[in-house]
Amino acid sequence: MRVVITGGGGFLGSHLCEELLRRGDTVWCLDNFCTSEPHNVAHLRANPRFRTVCGDVTTAFDIPGPVHAVAHLASPASPPDYHRLPLETLSAGSRGTENALRLALRHGARFVLASTSEVYGDPETHPQPEDYCGNVNPVGPRSVYDEAKRYAEALSMAYRRSLGVDAGIVRIFNTYGPRMRPYDGRVVSTFVRQALAARALTVYGDGSQTRSFCYVDDLVRGITAMIDHRDLSGPINLGNPVEHTVRELAELVLQVTGSRSRIENLPLPVDDPTRRRPVITRAREQLGWMPLVPVEEGLRYTAAWFTARSLPQPEPEPR
Ligand code: NAD
Ligand code: UDP
Repeated sequence: MRVVITGGGGFLGSHLCEELLRRGDTVWCLDNFCTSEPHNVAHLRANPRFRTVCGDVTTAFDIPGPVHAVAHLASPASPPDYHRLPLETLSAGSRGTENALRLALRHGARFVLASTSEVYGDPETHPQPEDYCGNVNPVGPRSVYDEAKRYAEALSMAYRRSLGVDAGIVRIFNTYGPRMRPYDGRVVSTFVRQALAARALTVYGDGSQTRSFCYVDDLVRGITAMIDHRDLSGPINLGNPVEHTVRELAELVLQVTGSRSRIENLPLPVDDPTRRRPVITRAREQLGWMPLVPVEEGLRYTAAWFTARSLPQPEPEPR
């Protein structure tokens, strides 16, 4: 297959590029590197089946030759990134999604949207099945991301219903692993970096809020299955149904890294969801997918990766 991955230079995108190349696909990676570094895919450049296009998905683009699938991942994704890039985030979800859908329409390609558990906002239903419609504050600071993804889902379904694009949606829950930016501000990268540098782990609020953490290799298997499963529209939750409080995560990171850092409590960000756990019955039944890597093991791989690379000069903690 020839696959276009928007946001292919990012954390998830670079792992997806790797996996598709490994199985023999040709991969075009489109990225403007606004929240990532080209070195994420530098090791793939020698592969003749890999192409990088440095470009912005919000500007119309085409790819020469046949395109069999488009995976649309381009969007700022961590809270500090989308707070820093609010208009760009809305644009990636709206214009960017439309450009990626048009590419799929022109080529008769399968289209997969990387949506998010954030479409559920601060959920009143727990755990979250796909038919739960969410509780999003449309004017809060997180809305630039949440509403962009909700619009992207609506647009994908409209292209499917009105124009016959074979569009499918995955809703990705918190995913972690090697190649997260140490200062992206997400909780796993932040805690692992802090633990390894013997700095205090910054738990926001009292740490009783929950998340369910999925290791990147598991997640990439799920996206790949969705690309391959033509005609499946979803939405399908992809995430690990094992739920942890943020406080428990901090303690797990200390245990896995052997760090003696202390835990420091800082104010909880506005609209921070209190709990989040996916129902993955659809993923199991329709994609034959479930996560396999326990969080302790995934954290060990992540910490080993952070240890092996030299950490950049300390920066102020992102908020
Ligand atoms: P990331 O920031 O590492 O990757 C996003 C990539 O998109 C980056 O390489 C960035 O440079 C690129 N990008 C952003 N705007 C662009 C534009 N206008 N044109 C071209 N490229 C652009 O984040 P990630 O964690 O790899 O997330 C990838 C996708 O998965 C995002 O759409 C995100 O919303 C979704 N997602 C991720 C998670 C997670 O836990 N990692 C959870 C839910 C959803
Ligand atoms: N969080 C934290 N300390 C940090 C970064 C994040 O306690 O240094 C919390 C954050 O408030 C949230 C959870 O960890 O409750 C997950 O945050 P992340 O930004 O990773 O993902 P999201 O909020 O988008 O689920």
